[in-house]
Amino acid sequence: MKYISTRGQAPELTFEEAMLTGLARDGGLYLPAEIPVMSQDEIAALAGLPYEEIAFRVMWPYVSGSFGEAEFKEIIARAYEGFGHDARAPLKQLNENHFLLELFHGPTLAFKDFAMQLIGQLFQVALKRRGDRVTIVGATSGDTGSAAIEAFRGLDAVDVFILFPHGRVSEVQRRQMTTPADSNVHALAVDGDFDDCQAALKDMFNDFDFRDGVKLAGVNSINFARVLAQIVYYFSAAVSLGAPHRKVSFTVPTGNFGDIFAGYLAKRMGLPIDRLVVATNQNDILHRCLSGEGYFKGDTIPSISPSMDIQVSSNFERALYYAYGEDGDAIAQLMDELKNGGFNVSQGAMEALRESFDSGRVSEDETLETIKHTLDHSVELVCPHTAVGIKVAEEHRAADVPMITLATAHPAKFPAAVEKASDVHPPLPSRMSDLYERPERVTRIANDLGALEDHIKRHIAE
Ligand SMILES: *Cc1c(COP(=O)(O)O)cnc(C)c1O
Repeated sequence: MKYISTRGQAPELTFEEAMLTGLARDGGLYLPAEIPVMSQDEIAALAGLPYEEIAFRVMWPYVSGSFGEAEFKEIIARAYEGFGHDARAPLKQLNENHFLLELFHGPTLAFKDFAMQLIGQLFQVALKRRGDRVTIVGATSGDTGSAAIEAFRGLDAVDVFILFPHGRVSEVQRRQMTTPADSNVHALAVDGDFDDCQAALKDMFNDFDFRDGVKLAGVNSINFARVLAQIVYYFSAAVSLGAPHRKVSFTVPTGNFGDIFAGYLAKRMGLPIDRLVVATNQNDILHRCLSGEGYFKGDTIPSISPSMDIQVSSNFERALYYAYGEDGDAIAQLMDELKNGGFNVSQGAMEALRESFDSGRVSEDETLETIKHTLDHSVELVCPHTAVGIKVAEEHRAADVPMITLATAHPAKFPAAVEKASDVHPPLPSRMSDLYERPERVTRIANDLGALEDHIKRHIAE
């Protein structure tokens, strides 16, 4: 499979090259040149298989050519062996026709583990084969950093440095980043806020001497390998509810549009998905856009579902690419307009988007009420992101099509909001109940590019 850029001006790459590169040279995002299609028989045959086997069959057409069959099976096995649930992504029933897809049984208790754990193993195998190594640097407001650390810890082809704002992440989030003991893991508490961390990261990527010297690599949510890993659970969930003989719909708590875009690819691959519903919190650029108001940036307002507090959904560019008939020039022009605030979506593209997507927005109060209501009526304690999804799903549910809401994080990751809503303190799963006793290892560092680059250079293994 070859990979092409959404802006049409970058060279075609293999899967491995696209994964190691991340962002295309023309500023675009990589997509497969063709979306592979599975027959209804092939989809039906997935029912009842282990998650890892479904993962292999769904992802294989995307990666063949870059990895061997046995090699890829081993990579998948290693990626998911640390999960705390044998089903990996179990489905729970909320009411008659509404189901929760639990995506929080990975090592950091959020769905990002599905992609990060796989990408860690893919990087290790690809780099070993090339006799190469990289330095992963990431900036995090909480969730992505710990997912990256858990994915790359102990892998000898990679050093991982995570910048987080000192004093501004939750204790659970901080401890998830500072307690792994592996020597290739480096947690950096920056004296600044999340925007400072992101700006420092961007400056490092623009400092070409430094970038080439340490072989800097990124694994943020635009990496196609991350999207790919997320396609799998749409298949596993749908077949367990009777697909391909029965349609299902999904509601997805959405920030950067990576997770729900994976659902769109599942649909294009032949999975009978009726509706894909985007659920946003008060940071609602996607809901406004899908309601026909154009794609215009607002101010980011902090919420109790912080992993969805974004202004610009980077992966939405991929959906626009298909909605605009795979016209890279049109996408490049829209992204130029976005720099100046935003753009209106053409009528044809709006119609194309509405063939697959619906949307809804949830306020802070409604989020809290939904946590309480879900506990009272379904005995499930859910995280605030999941509550946003449940609320929107209830509004969009059709009587004859099962609705599956993605439960994106474990409630124990967001104890303050969950307790405020329900008066119940969500306990950590038993396998990590000693998190508060484990020793922490962290370097506090000035918000200064020179200091950061110097620290990284001195601490990478050679
Ligand atoms: C990242 C994240 C989201 C948003 O996912 P996107 O792929 O960015 O749309 C939702 N919930 C949680 C808990 C997350 O960590």
